[in-house]
Amino acid sequence: METNEYKFFISDCKKAIEKNNDIDVSFNIDDISLKNFKSYSYAKKKAANLRQKYINNIDELLVLFDKNFSEKGNEINWAIEYDTLIEDILKLLREKKIKEVNIFENKFVEELGLVKNLKQEDINISSESKKCVIFEPKYAISQTGSLFLDFKSALEMDFVMEAELKIFILPINNILKSIEDIELLSQLYSINKNKTDYLSLTTIYTPKINNENNVELFIVDNGRTNLLELKEHRKALTCIDCDACKKVCPIYLMIGDEPYNNVFSGPIANVILPFLETVDGCKHLSFNCILCGNCVKVCPMNIPITDLIIANRNIFFENRNMDFNERYKVKVLKKYLIDRKKLSNKIWKKELLMKFLVKRKLTIPRPLPVFSKSTFSQIKSQK
Ligand code: SF4
Repeated sequence: METNEYKFFISDCKKAIEKNNDIDVSFNIDDISLKNFKSYSYAKKKAANLRQKYINNIDELLVLFDKNFSEKGNEINWAIEYDTLIEDILKLLREKKIKEVNIFENKFVEELGLVKNLKQEDINISSESKKCVIFEPKYAISQTGSLFLDFKSALEMDFVMEAELKIFILPINNILKSIEDIELLSQLYSINKNKTDYLSLTTIYTPKINNENNVELFIVDNGRTNLLELKEHRKALTCIDCDACKKVCPIYLMIGDEPYNNVFSGPIANVILPFLETVDGCKHLSFNCILCGNCVKVCPMNIPITDLIIANRNIFFENRNMDFNERYKVKVLKKYLIDRKKLSNKIWKKELLMKFLVKRKLTIPRPLPVFSKSTFSQIKSQK
């Protein structure tokens, strides 16, 4: 893979490994999950099925949410891409003559890079302002037209709830059907993210009728429909951003966040970034995995991360997103791996092939695995 993005990624990985980042590797939630659930695996299955069902019916849920939210006299601003969103927000701020904004950066707001863009437009970012607040709700609830808000502190809660103009920004996939869904998902999130039983400061916010238009909600796609279009990849949209997969990923524990240069990092980033950003800019991430399956075991949404990474590799191969050399190597390896006779070849032949196909391309030189003198079938037939 010869893209510039790949070269930068590899160079940043090397730097991160040399720095020997002190990444927290402790991930043991057995005690707390036992305390909270009779069967943790049943709870995971229930939550994963629920989220999957909602993602499969996302169009219906969004229409229902729109209807119930609009009934309260508020309007939803839909944005497909980031550019439309930023234009709409700037237009709104201009109309309301707002020159100062208080932004609470959660993951999606960070993904959109709003702070940078507002600063470029001479909007003052002030953490003290209650004039206009930009905040990311955790979920939209379609049956009631409400927003589920999760705050990091009482001060944050105070700023958001008291703000003269509240601008909420939400990615399209964070939609639930009913208020009852929140408890299980929040519990799984807080256990995996912070090893705590519950989210401490939350509220369900339903804007009132005639509240002088002080609530603006933006629901943004920003590449999510690229994942929705692929049946297998939809599952990735059920991610609740708990970071459990990162904490058990042997690659992430070596390189950390930096080489990703993105708000997403770790195993789920390897799956989704080629679709949220560009295939050419991010395809190398899908090869940044040794398929150990640790992430799949811990994911509370049962997302088959390693299967999706393999699916990505297939897509890139089939769509010719990989360069000629890479495709050639895959073809040769495939030819060998599915042919019993070739697999039983003399050791020197197999070593030569590995040297030619793999060793020369290793980023960090290391010895290749040694081939056994006999294959399993040969050993078995000798017995
Ligand atoms: S992929 Fe699973 S484990 Fe990783 S952040 Fe998302 S929900 Fe958590």
